[in-house]
Amino acid sequence: MIPRVVLKPKRAQPFFGRHPWVFAGALDRVEGTPADGDEVELFSTAGHFIARGLYNSRSKIRVRLYSWAEGVALNRAFFQRRLEEAIALRHNILHLNAPDAGYRICFSESDYLSGLIIDRYADWLAVQFTALGLAQRRFMISEILCELLSPRGLYLRTEKGIGRLEGVELRDELLWGEPPPSDLSIADNGLRLLVNLPEGHKTGYYLDQRDNRHVVARLCAGQRVLDAFCYSGGFSLFAAQAGAAEVRGIDASETALQLARRNAEVNGFSNITWVNADVFHELAELVARGEKFGVVILDPPKFARNRAAVPEAMKGYRRLHQLALKLLERDGILVSCCCTGLITMVELEELLAQVAVEARRDVQILQRRGAAADHPVAVTCPETGYLKCLISRVI
Ligand code: SAH
Repeated sequence: MIPRVVLKPKRAQPFFGRHPWVFAGALDRVEGTPADGDEVELFSTAGHFIARGLYNSRSKIRVRLYSWAEGVALNRAFFQRRLEEAIALRHNILHLNAPDAGYRICFSESDYLSGLIIDRYADWLAVQFTALGLAQRRFMISEILCELLSPRGLYLRTEKGIGRLEGVELRDELLWGEPPPSDLSIADNGLRLLVNLPEGHKTGYYLDQRDNRHVVARLCAGQRVLDAFCYSGGFSLFAAQAGAAEVRGIDASETALQLARRNAEVNGFSNITWVNADVFHELAELVARGEKFGVVILDPPKFARNRAAVPEAMKGYRRLHQLALKLLERDGILVSCCCTGLITMVELEELLAQVAVEARRDVQILQRRGAAADHPVAVTCPETGYLKCLISRVI
């Protein structure tokens, strides 16, 4: 018999509502002796079946749920079906599968596969496991991916801190096939972008901003553009392609800027200046020098990983917006990105309102955006809608 995890009274509602994370505090008891990574069935106090998931005594997320259908085993066929559904979105609905394309094949809870991220960069796949249960099944998952997508290589990327959170020890390495070449690149709306799959941030490139870059670029023609937190140059390069007069990309990581410089070279852009600096410091310098820009893009990293860190994170966002407003010309465009899931769109807009009033500038939101469609939001797991991107006119 499959071990049963029984919830405390009144704790079942979120899981009938198909949220996939069962935290330790919701558990009343475990019937049977599941090993970490084993299949378990989740039951309410009243004895109703809720869902099936994978158990992990070492994680605060004691059970991750994958199926709400009774009697469905979480076996190879199950994971293959889930992956086929994820691939169908990207290939049959979004048509992202051009030969050299870069896109997210599977985004964890967004694709009902909590703890599994797969990105495709041309002929290579980057795979990331953030759940022990799926990390244990990595060779099975690799096999399915090889069958479904025929990549040349499959590379495992790990996220810092996951080892401790999930009790799983993995390191970055080739899982299957050939290692990616050092000049691995993808084609994205007319540009060629280098991707550092083995060592870059996330899995090598920020795919979630794909559509936002193109929308922002259309507002950059003829403008002086400031791209704060530019990483490998995503927003800067598309701004240059769209005819920006001049672009300045700022990042504190020299390896990111090396990639950005190569990207500018490969695509033939000579009007982008790359600045290795702390953004807070550099923006204050630019303000002090009286510099002005037509477009300012703020795309900082995640500032808060837990609730306790949110007030400090808000201070950071506030400071960035205060500086940005000082740098924007009349009728300038402000792009405020926030990938901190614990801060909502409403909170970001409230912050923008406060900063605007303080600076005595009128700010009109032109677009409220999220991540690109290959990073869908599962309605039953609101945490999957982490990225906010506000595009505003600053009068
Ligand atoms: N806009 C990028 C993604 C940005 S990711 C794109 O479109 O691809 C966030 C970046 O912020 C990382 O490259 C990181 O190196 C950089 N970073 C983090 N803190 C910083 C700071 N205080 N000053 C400058 N850069 C910083």
